[in-house]
Amino acid sequence: MKPEEKSKRNPAWSRDEIILALDLYRQLQGGWPKKNDQKVSELSQTLNQFWQVQGYAGDTLRNTNGVKMKLMNLRTHDPKYEKGAGLKAGNKLEAEVWTDFWARPDYLIETATAIRASIASLGRESSLETITPQIDDIDEVEAAEGRLLTLIHRRRERSSTIAKNKKDKTLAKNGRLICEACGFDFVERYGEHGAGFIECHHIKPLAELSGETKTRLSDLVLLCANCHRMIHAKRPWLTVDELRQILR
Ligand SMILES: [Zn+2]
Ligand SMILES: [Zn+2]
Repeated sequence: MKPEEKSKRNPAWSRDEIILALDLYRQLQGGWPKKNDQKVSELSQTLNQFWQVQGYAGDTLRNTNGVKMKLMNLRTHDPKYEKGAGLKAGNKLEAEVWTDFWARPDYLIETATAIRASIASLGRESSLETITPQIDDIDEVEAAEGRLLTLIHRRRERSSTIAKNKKDKTLAKNGRLICEACGFDFVERYGEHGAGFIECHHIKPLAELSGETKTRLSDLVLLCANCHRMIHAKRPWLTVDELRQILR
């Protein structure tokens, strides 16, 4: 889709955006922002950048009124307020984000910080055409931490150079490549055709990802395609240990 076409639609608030709004809600401690509140305009700008990074043209998708409205919506999920104190517009995604993050303020802060950092770093990339297709192409369930951090995770583990290094090093050490969760061996099963085939999964929590940090070989584990799929099949994504537990 071309950026011009995208700008015509008014996209629904995404998980990433709601996480950022919830982080502002947390900072306001349930209070109402003052007129011309700096934090509200900053969030409005950040959200507009979020859409620009994804190829949406224009800079007025999320104005300060829209941001304030979202803060009001979030209040409907806050048990601190009597039922009915906020607007009755709370949607399912808001409820999910509230459940995932509100009781864990450190996780919320860390995730929101990583999202803001990735918006900034993706925005610095030379060409939007290199980012947008990758975002559109995400076929796995978006992580609890949202779409941009999902994209960064995915890019990290599919980087061919680092994956090759990981495989070369493991082959040199163990003489074969097997799934670190279930032990599947592609050569054993598929013969020569399966030689060198295995997937890499990046194990760093998404809240710790930003556009800038480098992948280390120790951040990657080798998984068969099934196990890798299972990890990303539902929110929250499984850890490799949790997957091993299931397989036991
Ligand atoms: Zn496996
Ligand atoms: Zn993965």
